[in-house]
Amino acid sequence: MPRPIRASFDLGALRSNLAVVRAHAPRARVWGVVKANAYGHGLERAVGALAGADGYALLDLDDAVRVRDAGVRKPILLLEGFFAPDDLPTIAEHGLAVAVHNDEQLRMLESAGLPSRVPVYVKLNSGMNRLGFAPAAFAEAVRRLQASRMVGEIALMTHFADADGERGVGEQMACFEAAAGGFALPRSLANSAAVLRYPQTHAEWVRPGIMLYGCSPFPQSGADAFGLVPVMTLASELIAVRELARGDRVGYGGAFAAPKRMRIGVVACGYADGYPRHAPTGTPVLVAGKRTRIVGRVSMDTLTVDLAPVPEASVGTPVTLWGAGLSADEVAAAAGTLSYELLCGLTPRVPQVELE
Ligand SMILES: *Cc1c(COP(=O)(O)O)cnc(C)c1O
Repeated sequence: MPRPIRASFDLGALRSNLAVVRAHAPRARVWGVVKANAYGHGLERAVGALAGADGYALLDLDDAVRVRDAGVRKPILLLEGFFAPDDLPTIAEHGLAVAVHNDEQLRMLESAGLPSRVPVYVKLNSGMNRLGFAPAAFAEAVRRLQASRMVGEIALMTHFADADGERGVGEQMACFEAAAGGFALPRSLANSAAVLRYPQTHAEWVRPGIMLYGCSPFPQSGADAFGLVPVMTLASELIAVRELARGDRVGYGGAFAAPKRMRIGVVACGYADGYPRHAPTGTPVLVAGKRTRIVGRVSMDTLTVDLAPVPEASVGTPVTLWGAGLSADEVAAAAGTLSYELLCGLTPRVPQVELE
């Protein structure tokens, strides 16, 4: 009998979340963003379930090659482009598209000797100050790419820093328009937050990630308000139940002291499974489908839960850490992080199952 923890993946939810993207951006083509092992969901699994996407966007060349070799004929985009001249023959051979975000990449591409032209997404730094050409250098970069015999179709892209927040996309849109407006080329700007909130950003291609996995890009609004369904459910069981007297302490550091007599359950799930160690007492959890809270410090292999709302609970009672019935967004908010980090942080030791 394996340890009772498992992560299950609802493939129908992936398809239905893609339909939510389509409903919000009906005229755009969709890059399914599958970087970081599809946000922890498994690259091949996500690409298979997202067969309705128009292309796949990720970071690692090896991953892109794996997807191509698995028989995927659709466009595949490397969101950070390439890192060395040696990458380019593999990219051309596998028909991959690349972001080009700096002069070094531009020069590598211009001086490559490739058997076929590489499609390029030229990236503008419109204010995030991470990757992309400065606005003043953008037009020149596009013209050089247009002149290069190594380059195929060209599209223009940028990435929003605060589409989920108060500043929104206004300044970055204005910057993009000023730098890129003169080119009649396809564009790609929108992450999940912009897909949901800013139709004026949709353009030719949108790039949703987190919403495909059923979580919300917004701190204040829940995924279910948009009709998004969680794909990953992290579940386990109680492996011990105990009575505490008033004042008894739980776990490392005795961080939680029982304020009165209470029952607690010990769950086979800890930070070595990907549950956030910094989740405090009070973080929500479902035991036998009922909402309760974790108490005390999360350890490597276990965490402890308050059984007050679940008097019937015993060893073997099912526990949902996040997913169906309890959004990872809520757990993340309690732990001071984002669902993105929880989903990506699932560790390889957790057995995985697929639900059709
Ligand atoms: C990760 C990423 C996305 C997807 O962002 P979400 O917030 O998950 O929708 C889109 N574009 C780029 C360039 C990214 O790196």
